[in-house]
Amino acid sequence: MNYPLYLDYNATTPCDKKVLEGMLPYFTLDFGNASSEHHPYGWVAKEAIEDATLHISSLLKIDEKEIIYTSGSTESINAVLKGVYRKLKHKGNQILTVKTEHKATLDVCEYLQEEGADITYLDVDGNGLIDLDALALAISDNTLMVSVMYANNETGVIQPMEAIAKICKQKNTLLFSDATQAIGKIPLDNFFSWVDFACFSAHKIYGPKGIGFTFAKLESQASLQSFIQGGGQQRNLRGGTYNTPAIVGMAKAINLGIYNLEAERDRLFNLRNHLEEGLCLIEEATINGKKSDRLCNTLNISFEYVDGQQLLAALSRNLAVSNGSACNSAATNPSHVLTAMGIGRNLALSTLRISLGRYTTEKDIQQAILIITKEVAKQRASNLLWDRR
Ligand code: PLP
Repeated sequence: MNYPLYLDYNATTPCDKKVLEGMLPYFTLDFGNASSEHHPYGWVAKEAIEDATLHISSLLKIDEKEIIYTSGSTESINAVLKGVYRKLKHKGNQILTVKTEHKATLDVCEYLQEEGADITYLDVDGNGLIDLDALALAISDNTLMVSVMYANNETGVIQPMEAIAKICKQKNTLLFSDATQAIGKIPLDNFFSWVDFACFSAHKIYGPKGIGFTFAKLESQASLQSFIQGGGQQRNLRGGTYNTPAIVGMAKAINLGIYNLEAERDRLFNLRNHLEEGLCLIEEATINGKKSDRLCNTLNISFEYVDGQQLLAALSRNLAVSNGSACNSAATNPSHVLTAMGIGRNLALSTLRISLGRYTTEKDIQQAILIITKEVAKQRASNLLWDRR
């Protein structure tokens, strides 16, 4: 099969070869179960996990005990939202979140409503940002937790997390942040001092799929009810046999991501800006979230008078991009993120999310501009409304 040019790095990333190499021994020779205490197979696996945990904790400047391995961000989101609600529901029942969160958060919130949670969905403005005064006003004595993603997976818009954290501290409310798209793209130097909980997935940062972790601040762990029982692993916070190769791979992936962050951020920022400039030469193109702080690799662009589904289908031979979140990309409904930003249904449906990554080159950008420009023109040529506009 002839693979198209990949510009969908926010959906997932290829596993870095160095990551894969680090993982391989733990599938074969060093395959032991880290909980097997009575022989070297178990000791080797346990040591690998301890080393990986130490590595991640020192890279992120957090305590080793603040890392809870999970299968990825979806599981972490379930664990934190359900875990905190179930543990603290005697104190209140309100959870505050944002209309532009990932579906993983929105779906869990909807589920928790059936258990009696009162979910408040904060609005965003046309730039995708929440209103800090509205957040402060919405927090009440009944609020258990605020859940705000750091960087949006569709638009790349970065929420002012430090200011959000300040409000939560003043109001004595827990703060959870989905930082799945932030790691490796934004320095997380102070982030862990701001939040009580956060979540990460290795496959967004050139690690393997099916592994991630919940950050749970030591002093906030008492507010979390364990979500997966069995086996007593991870200090009873998440049962199940440790996925040794994946944990080793994730540590390596985080290492590479953080080590290269500054240079890679500048490189991607330049490439994204070239792409943006090139695509803005197309008439009636709008960049969504342009006025906000955005991830260096993400471009969300709408084209008037174009059918988004047809555009994606036509592009798919040459270009792998998406129209929103990967989990939702089959949907014919407009992106909930864009509609929350006040973008009309038709324009939201005519939108591409283009996300660049480690293997994107300037040549790829030039190629993408040519392909998209040609395809948009083709679509418009067969749209009577375009001529009559
Ligand atoms: N949160 C955000 C912001 C994401 O981009 C994703 C993945 O698309 C998730 C959560 C869910 O991550 P995973 O599918 O790895 O569980």
